[in-house]
Amino acid sequence: MRLVSAGLTDVGCVRKHNEDSLRMEPELGLFVVADGLGGHAAGEVASQIVVDRVVQFVQQTVEKDRTWPLEYDVTLNYDGNRLKVALLLSDQAIVEDIRKNPERETMGSTVVACLIQGTRATLAHVGDSRAYILDPKGIRQITRDHSWVAEQVTHGILTPAEARVHPFRNVITQALGNGGELDVSVQEFDLEKMDRLLLCSDGLSGMVTDSEIWSIAMSEKSLENSVSRLIAKARENGGEDNITAVLIGFSADEDGPST
Ligand code: CA
Repeated sequence: MRLVSAGLTDVGCVRKHNEDSLRMEPELGLFVVADGLGGHAAGEVASQIVVDRVVQFVQQTVEKDRTWPLEYDVTLNYDGNRLKVALLLSDQAIVEDIRKNPERETMGSTVVACLIQGTRATLAHVGDSRAYILDPKGIRQITRDHSWVAEQVTHGILTPAEARVHPFRNVITQALGNGGELDVSVQEFDLEKMDRLLLCSDGLSGMVTDSEIWSIAMSEKSLENSVSRLIAKARENGGEDNITAVLIGFSADEDGPST
């Protein structure tokens, strides 16, 4: 089985700037989606800092013989530590950039990042950028948003349907660059050969329902076509925010063209 992937980011139908950033590094098995906050062009700076810093740290830690820059979390495996530290370093990098450029004071970013070695996936996120696993039977969201509405759903105060349309649905409880303590969520799991892993910003998950995402992503053989159609659907449904989607899967052929 060979890892295949496709990703796109789109400004949407309403915003002037695209504050989302996306990086795919199939050689490293690394995929990152960051959604910048702050407006006035600062959000795009923040999300770019995040994807650059994450890729840089993962590149620097391909070999295990490096001095670890921050505390090593013994509850996580090596890749879990790589992603957790990569996110903490990108948080510090945004804070540092704000110190030099105070006009960007309000900037921050959410992120979802995945590192895949063979069929083993390690995933880390902060904020409401999401990951889903899709298979022939259905779709399931595997990240829990760091958001006010997600907390209400966890406590049984709101239903998922109420959360989806709640006026506070965009209020996140943590983001990179905000200067506070961060609680990075990290998880590990195995991917099956028919699985597709979706990473996305809330401009997709907020505009397209899970069942629409599932039927579009699973009905196309080509991941490129699936991703294009997901973006088109988010635009068709209003495109109120920037839209980013990355799909990752496995191809049965060993020698086919790399996507
Ligand atoms: Ca967004």
